Amino acid sequence: DAQQILEGMRYPLADAGALVIFRDVTRIRQLEQVRQDFVANVSHELRSPLTVVRGFLENMLDSPLAADDEVGSQLRLMEQQALRMQSLVEDLLSLARMEAAEANPEHCETLMLADMVHNTLDAMSPAVVQKRLQIDTALDANLGIVAETIDLTSIVRNLLENAVKYSPAERAIRVRWERCSDHLRFVVQDTGDGIAAEHLQRITERFYRVDKGRSRRVGGTGLGLAIVRHAVERYQGHLEVTSEVGKGSTFTVVFPLHLARSIPPNPAAS
Ligand code: ADP
Repeated sequence: DAQQILEGMRYPLADAGALVIFRDVTRIRQLEQVRQDFVANVSHELRSPLTVVRGFLENMLDSPLAADDEVGSQLRLMEQQALRMQSLVEDLLSLARMEAAEANPEHCETLMLADMVHNTLDAMSPAVVQKRLQIDTALDANLGIVAETIDLTSIVRNLLENAVKYSPAERAIRVRWERCSDHLRFVVQDTGDGIAAEHLQRITERFYRVDKGRSRRVGGTGLGLAIVRHAVERYQGHLEVTSEVGKGSTFTVVFPLHLARSIPPNPAAS
């Protein structure tokens, strides 16, 4: 049966040579597939009703109804929660898509990660300014990477948003994008509160949060790091996290070197 996947383990035995144990994991794989399809379908089905709810809420907020203080504040609360649910649905869909398959070469193009970082930081500048964070970038502007846009934007956005969200005011964030001898590296380093060792190995699990109350307040879905990990694994890369409580955290996304493309600077742009 081509679907049967067998895992073998060898145990050396004193006299008999070796004992090989085979475990049939077909059923586990099938259940995992059912789970992935279910999440993707539910998320997809929730999209349209949510769009309708948000549309009507917007209309009501623009109407004289909203002039009443109590009704207005209830409508705004409903809109906030509908938006939260929409981010959750979009994140679940991204995750389902990333889990389903490796990157599709037909959808890949050369992307300039340095530009993506600058655009993302521009969009986040109100939060950065409000917290008086200092952001240092060391980005190789000529270093392109062959990838799907959605994967790379998810990686850049989630890591930068977390660094900003989980940094107290006036801290520094350092962002690097570079080619090393045998890989490409995107590093987001913050000097925030850090993550204790017992949480570190679980933070890329779906919905795992160190401090649930705090994460909800700062507005995350709990899926950001799971998305980052799955996005980079689509390219046979990986995510490394190191952290020290009270000193800060470093998230390093490692891509295989063969994805690198050198793009000389555009003379027209200078
Ligand atoms: P969330 O939407 O809750 O931010 P993530 O998957 O992005 O979900 O992160 C999971 C958890 O890891 C967060 O809730 C937070 O507790 C912790 N975390 C992520 N990034 C950082 C960081 N830069 N500094 C400290 N803790 C972090």
